[in-house]
Amino acid sequence: MLDRLPEIIDPLVFAERRIELKGTLKIKSLTRLEGLILDDAGVIEVELFFNKQGRHAFIDGWASTTLIMQCQNCLDAVDVPIKTAIKLGLITNLDYADRLPAGYEPLIIDEEKMLLKEIVEDELLLALPAFPKHLHQCVKFELHSENSSADLSVVAENATLATPKNPFAVLAKLKPTGEP
Ligand SMILES: [Zn+2]
Repeated sequence: MLDRLPEIIDPLVFAERRIELKGTLKIKSLTRLEGLILDDAGVIEVELFFNKQGRHAFIDGWASTTLIMQCQNCLDAVDVPIKTAIKLGLITNLDYADRLPAGYEPLIIDEEKMLLKEIVEDELLLALPAFPKHLHQCVKFELHSENSSADLSVVAENATLATPKNPFAVLAKLKPTGEP
């Protein structure tokens, strides 16, 4: 088990040697995430096991991180925890993709050497939510926060309307009914 992630890997050789990798990548090194996230500080934890079953080579593992994205409701920052399983079957030609066992996505090897971060980046991009949102209800009345003072006056008006117009109606309810 290597504790540092190599930058460049040779997946087929790694599979032959059944190499296990564990370590972290800096979020800011994954340039394709730029524009999708609000903050590129932090790391991605990665664990990968290169292996062979018969003549087929595979990468099994996971990547885990928390990305800071823009909530599509309130437009503020929202932490999006992501833990994605990685199950890749290594093939040299897309025509072989249907020979992979169920649950494995094809990874086409057109050059021997690959950037490890590219593999992780692809998996993270697939796992990103299309509409990141806070779990709590972060926007009330579906209106933008710039209008919040106007919202409050509307609520206040409604509250006034909700109270009984006739104060004697309240007194009538308080008056004991059982006495003569
Ligand atoms: Zn929100």
